[in-house]
Amino acid sequence: MEIERILLRQEQLQTRIRELGAVLSADYAGKTPIFIGVLKGAVHFFTDLMLHYPHPCQYDFIGASSYGDGTQTSGQVRLTKDVMTDLRDRHVVIVEDILDTGLTLRFVTDWLRSKHPASLKLCVLLDKPERRRADISADYIGFTIPNEFVVGYGLDYQELYRNLPYIGVLKP
Ligand code: 5GP
Repeated sequence: MEIERILLRQEQLQTRIRELGAVLSADYAGKTPIFIGVLKGAVHFFTDLMLHYPHPCQYDFIGASSYGDGTQTSGQVRLTKDVMTDLRDRHVVIVEDILDTGLTLRFVTDWLRSKHPASLKLCVLLDKPERRRADISADYIGFTIPNEFVVGYGLDYQELYRNLPYIGVLKP
């Protein structure tokens, strides 16, 4: 395995996700929010987070892709799958794996905002603020991490490593 070191262990991830679930539960109780997972990287974060949201809610998914095959964003964001739910006047929470340059989530939030939700918030597991290029910040953040390319727990390198139960730094 080409993992240099583990950045976030499975237990650390689960502890923090439980906390985020509790915060969302307090903020959205009584509102029946729609949680929108961004494919594919957010899959594990999305499902684990939702198990800690005990109130009525709905799921949807959106697909966006900006990375080619490497570790640098191409800057060009493409919608690969749209949501299936009518978002008008609904409370929407976007659930994403990582906020890096912000170009992907800038595109996704602009796209979803055009569907006229009552509110739109952003929940990310990881935030890499050093590399931000778009004017965007998350409302809910699991961990702020340094500028290193990470894999695991949904995050890939050339479509591999998504199934690691931890988040690790790839060997250069
Ligand atoms: P952004 O548009 O904010 O630069 O990047 C967002 C997307 O780039 C994420 O959804 C993720 O797919 C990918 N990405 C950004 N940083 C990393 C990283 O450190 N590791 C991996 N595996 N993907 C990343």
